[in-house]
Amino acid sequence: MPEKRPPEELNRAVILLGPPGAGKGTQAKKLAAKYSVPHLSTGDMLREHVALGTSLGVKAKPIMERGELVPDSLVLKIVAVRIERPDCSHGFVFDGFPRTVAQAQYLGELLKQHGFRRPFVIHLVIDTALILRRITGRRTCKTGGEIYNLYDFPPKVEGRCDSDGGELWQRPDDREEIVGPRLRAYEKQTAPLVAYYKRLGLLHEADASKSVEEVEEQIWKALHHARGKH
Ligand code: ADP
Ligand code: AMP
Repeated sequence: MPEKRPPEELNRAVILLGPPGAGKGTQAKKLAAKYSVPHLSTGDMLREHVALGTSLGVKAKPIMERGELVPDSLVLKIVAVRIERPDCSHGFVFDGFPRTVAQAQYLGELLKQHGFRRPFVIHLVIDTALILRRITGRRTCKTGGEIYNLYDFPPKVEGRCDSDGGELWQRPDDREEIVGPRLRAYEKQTAPLVAYYKRLGLLHEADASKSVEEVEEQIWKALHHARGKH
């Protein structure tokens, strides 16, 4: 992937839609870095609440461990507060949000209130057969959040992040037995967002089974094409 610099500011929300393991976090980090905007992962925010033992974290922990979705009310509160922060004024890249139609409707209102134009939505399309390998092989740096895969992108030193030497850990919900419930939650509650955003004329697609660089390129092209239209 050639190192292209964006010609202008993002000035909008980017929504990466797709099942767990599709590559949302991997691509969100890259896009956010390119545009110097925040990467907003509701999963990361919830895991932080869990780690800190906040009242929200205490409520969310068992739900996340079962591979189910945390209630809309809890997630919406976190997002509404987060996008008020000044670093969000030129746009942001969502990863794992919205995950229900109610969240998408609320987000639409929130973006309007903040004067953002319509979001850029890209669906990372991937075959279920590829997902298990991606999820069970995922390891994340505890300090910097860098994402690895034991099968495809292993670190140079086992258990350590190449960038900062941080400890690599496996999310409790990335165990094989939790993958089924997570995929069912996706199909039931999140997949309807594909039709929702299509109806709004906002949906773009990328083939997420391709390499990280190829997916990055597809997103980049779709985003540039969309910028000309809305
Ligand atoms: P999501 O945020 O959608 O759950 P991640 O970005 O965390 O997905 O990626 C899940 C796993 O798949 C990670 O181990 C990551 O390194 C790996 N991965 C991401 N994109 C690709 C890709 N295009 N090809 C192969 N593996 C990938
Ligand atoms: P993720 O890191 O995106 O895979 O999310 C991990 C878990 O956090 C999910 O399985 C849910 O339990 C919870 N979660 C993250 N984002 C949301 C959301 N937008 N709505 C509801 N639950 C969420």
